[in-house]
Amino acid sequence: MCRQFVEGVTDYLEGTLPDEIVILVELHLADCPHCREYLAQMRRTIALTRSLTERDVDAMPADVRDRLLQAFRDHDE
Ligand SMILES: [Zn+2]
Repeated sequence: MCRQFVEGVTDYLEGTLPDEIVILVELHLADCPHCREYLAQMRRTIALTRSLTERDVDAMPADVRDRLLQAFRDHDE
């Protein structure tokens, strides 16, 4: 389930998944700390990206940008 979750997380956050899938996702989240953490990271990242202008991203220190990218790579199966 983790892989499907990671692939569908954007749809989940946007609320575009069918109800029956949302139920499956929430059941999975209830007993998968990895996906809960991943979801929390996605929410933070999306909130961050929405509040940033392009100039902010350019001005972002390289290590912060790297940590953000690393956060995505860290989620394995
Ligand atoms: Zn999972």
